[in-house]
Amino acid sequence: MIDIKSQNLIELTEFIGSQGEKPFRAKQIFEWIHEKHAGDFDCMTNISIPLREKLKQSAYISGIKIAQELISKEDGTRKYLLELDDGNIIESVLMRYEYGLSVCISSQVGCRMGCKFCASTIDGLVRNLTAGEMLDEIYCIQEHIGERISHVVIMGSGEPLDNYDNFIKFVELTDIGHRNITVSTCGIVPRIYELADLKNQVTLAVSLHAPNDELRKTIMPVANAYSISQLTDACKYYISVTGRRITFEYSLIAGVNDNEKCAAELSEIAKQLGAHINLIPVNPVEEREFRQPYIKTINAFKSKLERCGINVTIRREMGRDISGACGQLRRHYKGNT
Ligand code: SAH
Repeated sequence: MIDIKSQNLIELTEFIGSQGEKPFRAKQIFEWIHEKHAGDFDCMTNISIPLREKLKQSAYISGIKIAQELISKEDGTRKYLLELDDGNIIESVLMRYEYGLSVCISSQVGCRMGCKFCASTIDGLVRNLTAGEMLDEIYCIQEHIGERISHVVIMGSGEPLDNYDNFIKFVELTDIGHRNITVSTCGIVPRIYELADLKNQVTLAVSLHAPNDELRKTIMPVANAYSISQLTDACKYYISVTGRRITFEYSLIAGVNDNEKCAAELSEIAKQLGAHINLIPVNPVEEREFRQPYIKTINAFKSKLERCGINVTIRREMGRDISGACGQLRRHYKGNT
């Protein structure tokens, strides 16, 4: 069966051609899927009934439904638990900014990267999301709230560069401008080079979380595969090819990576690349013992970076009252059903 929502127009035209149909039919079907968000072939009224029947035999339209919606009383952030066709649950978050609506989407069910502070990875990777399912996260929320989503960050559960082909397909298919797409990676170096070579203007955020290999290896297994210097070389390449600035994400964990020496090392790395740093006070995960540093320590860390001339922000915690670290909502939901 063909996953029709994950097909670009060229692939769809080929597929429709193989069914003995004219190319313009592919365009009509593409519009039904990506503009009118058709959930089944029967609503495609300008497609003949025999062709609809033929399509049903050889293709399917992936779907997604809202299993739960939580709305923050503090800032209106909405967290969604979405159910895929096979019953798997993923998380997405909708945030309202001055510049528009931004959605944070998942790229995999679970994750196999094993970062020690992250809830998404506790049960490992269940499966990759298709490009169509990543689009579904946006389409579904957009439809639910009745407003257009202008920005997307691929920062939910999963490692997008570990699901590279589907992620690239998603970027190709979405109508959100590439400059309004941010992809966050734990640093799969060869994929950063590949992404750079596509020159598609996507904003790259790299989860660094530690300023030296020794410490990074203790919290991020991916650090055993790629050193920080390999990672920063890939980042330099990304910047030189795309002309885009990059962001380093740095989760501050009490007693682990929040001291002055770490701040000094981190500022050296950021300076080399002209990178922005986004500090994220770690979200405590029940299954893990990590804690947030005291606010005084967080501010001291930030000031140290600023004194070194680094552009730094502390990630505004959106929807704290409905929070749960990445992947935690899904775990709670699974635990209750
Ligand atoms: N796999 C991608 C996307 C992960 S989620 C990546 O590694 O970048 C987006 C960000 O949230 C990453 O920087 C991730 O390391 C971070 N994160 C995950 N769990 C967290 C937690 N409990 N507290 C703070 N940040 C967390």
